[in-house]
Amino acid sequence: MDQALERLLGGLEPIAGSERLPLQQARGRLLAETLLSPLDLPPFPNSAMDGYALRAEDSRSHATLRVIGTALAGKPFAGAAGAGECVRIFTGAVLPDWADAVAMQENVTREGETIHLSAAVNPGDNARPRGNEIRAGQALLPTGKRLGAADLGLLASVGMAEVSVKRRLRVAFLSTGDELRPVGQTLGPVEIHDSNRYVLDALLAELGVEALDFGIVRDDPEALRQALLEAASQADAIVTSGGASVGDADFIVEILGEIGQVEFWKVAIKPGKPFAHGRVGTVPLFGLPGNPVAVMVTFRQLVRPALLRLMGAAPATSLRFRAICGNRLHKRPGRLEFQRGVYRRSETGEFIVTGLAGQGSDRLTSVSQANCYILLPLESAGVAAGEPVDIEPFDGPN
Ligand code: AMP
Ligand code: MG
Repeated sequence: MDQALERLLGGLEPIAGSERLPLQQARGRLLAETLLSPLDLPPFPNSAMDGYALRAEDSRSHATLRVIGTALAGKPFAGAAGAGECVRIFTGAVLPDWADAVAMQENVTREGETIHLSAAVNPGDNARPRGNEIRAGQALLPTGKRLGAADLGLLASVGMAEVSVKRRLRVAFLSTGDELRPVGQTLGPVEIHDSNRYVLDALLAELGVEALDFGIVRDDPEALRQALLEAASQADAIVTSGGASVGDADFIVEILGEIGQVEFWKVAIKPGKPFAHGRVGTVPLFGLPGNPVAVMVTFRQLVRPALLRLMGAAPATSLRFRAICGNRLHKRPGRLEFQRGVYRRSETGEFIVTGLAGQGSDRLTSVSQANCYILLPLESAGVAAGEPVDIEPFDGPN
């Protein structure tokens, strides 16, 4: 698995091309340049609290201070202040230049125009200096960063209305199999509905790529050849499901060898062993097995990192942590297994994971009901209840 990932990522280069977008259209997109802040943030010193702006040294020499004005956010107090004087101030208001701290309201008792401090105030208390968070000219966001809510807020706070983002990766995807019918059509006696295309469409959408649906292709070498060549002429990458194994109707690897090249085939994982990677011309192809759970596992473990690399995203590592296994898990040595489980946090704060019954790679219910994969290493011969295992939680929908 590690070798497969290394070879996969080692052979892929990020695509070129970018576009400028208004902030509201940039969510989920990847930044195409490292952005420097054009402004100091905050742009002026301001109060972090509702309270009284003062000179910290006055809080020691004067038990009481006289309130000589008010500073609100957007309505500064412009006047000067003498010793023993302070200003009522609210969060976000400009800190007057003579003040160096804010006494929080909760530590003050007020009588008319006079306040009594119940605690000493130190210089800088409850004050946010100009440029405290970021200075003009400092790096704000790195290239390749996927723009989430916080990033978009950050861009807005430094006044950037538009950003340059990488162009969307175009990914063609298709299903192969003579037994497949699209949803919306009645099944013949030896047919099943094509579910993989819906799985892939959703997984690709989550990644934010432009997904090109190439439908169902028959188990026919000529039809497959045509479909792959057409896909390669339109897309930056191709994802297929089915036909990658060693059956008599599995043509993906053979055809890849004819019209392109096979980089590697078969990975020691379960499910997902028949995974194939190659190129049609220069366009990378990821040949996933047909079994739906194998599609989900190989997409998450191999295709997703590969597509992120093509997109030019900063490399991501999947979150994995240790949990106590609540039941016995069966396994034969030889392959890294991704079993489906449900984890929860016990009252004592440990994570407990239960492997689901029915781990067949044809059973999408096992992924639908799970909230994590349980990773059982290649050499493992199963796990007894109470033993620790590594889990990879699903981030949001699986
Ligand atoms: P294959 O990898 O083509 O040998 O397919 C392995 C298993 O996955 C077979 O039982 C196929 O019927 C099933 N399968 C292949 N493609 C799909 C699909 N698009 N949707 C649902 N099941 C599929
Ligand atoms: Mg097939």
